Amino acid sequence: MLKRWIRRSLPVLVLTCFIVLYVDFQLRTSRPPKLRAHLDPPPGALPRATPAGRRTGRHPAAEGTHVPQPPLRQEDIFIAVKTTGRFHRTRLALLLETWISRTKTHVTRYNMVITGCQSDHSQQALSCKMSAEYDGFMATDKRWFCHVDDDNYLNPEALLSLLSNFPQEGDIYVGKPSLDKPITAHELLEGNATREVRFWFATGGAGFCLSRRLAEKMAPWASGSRFEQTSATIRLPDDCTVGFIVEKRLGVSMVHCPLFHSHLENLLLISHSSVPQQVTLSYGMFENKMNSIEFKGSFSKEDDPSRFKTVHCTLYPFTSWCP
Ligand code: UDP
Ligand code: MN
Repeated sequence: MLKRWIRRSLPVLVLTCFIVLYVDFQLRTSRPPKLRAHLDPPPGALPRATPAGRRTGRHPAAEGTHVPQPPLRQEDIFIAVKTTGRFHRTRLALLLETWISRTKTHVTRYNMVITGCQSDHSQQALSCKMSAEYDGFMATDKRWFCHVDDDNYLNPEALLSLLSNFPQEGDIYVGKPSLDKPITAHELLEGNATREVRFWFATGGAGFCLSRRLAEKMAPWASGSRFEQTSATIRLPDDCTVGFIVEKRLGVSMVHCPLFHSHLENLLLISHSSVPQQVTLSYGMFENKMNSIEFKGSFSKEDDPSRFKTVHCTLYPFTSWCP
């Protein structure tokens, strides 16, 4: 089924260069939610295509008062996967086979957004794609925005339990820095003057999340063309730009979370038993050697250098292709 999907889509995918994949958790059979009934239009009033997760939190009635929030569900989380044409066969296919396929019970569609961004790894190209991810999220009414790269394994259940523990109406920016201290940037001011600014940022290669309320506050520096403009004023890439907007423009501190992992850290240090609790994993080459988690299981290192298949078969042993 998935193979067929990939085969059918591949000609389209290969032709395109810059793609952001939205993993859209939507219930195929949506249970009538309990707590939000009084705020929603009557059943049937919404067009079929409208996501079931229209939240009370965005309703004016919820502002300033304490309307209890219904428990967070997977379909309330918007996950954007940044990728590019040349990684579709290698990286994206692995994600579709593993964690993205897990969302199949919830998912009615994957949204591929082909951006007009440049295809390189430059600051502009990456910021252009992040801007598309942000705008894509803002066009929905999901409660959380999460970004990952196409070399990340994301455990949807671990993510859900992490995000469920935050105040759902809070200003939350959660991820893991790749540096051990705040980054220093030189913000361009009018008349070519610069100002030194220091702030934490969650490394994009480990993935990060933003609550809806915080994402909305970011709009003056992040929506439409403004994200790329903000990125240009600090001359730093997309993930740094998110940190700059949150910490320096809005004065909100990033939440440092050890459950996100990029290949900029030594992945061998993640203990075997903690793997199911990790929110994201990654893999990559470091000094000509594969940096990946040490995880024994179904596949050899040759057959599964990233260890993503092995992790997946441990988490979901009934997957059709798992031994
Ligand atoms: N990427 C991209 N265009 C490129 C190279 C990479 O859009 O020319 C994306 C890639 O799909 C991934 C992210 O940028 O989601 C980070 O790329 P990579 O893992 O290759 O580099 P890293 O920054 O982790 O060293
Ligand atoms: Mn990477």
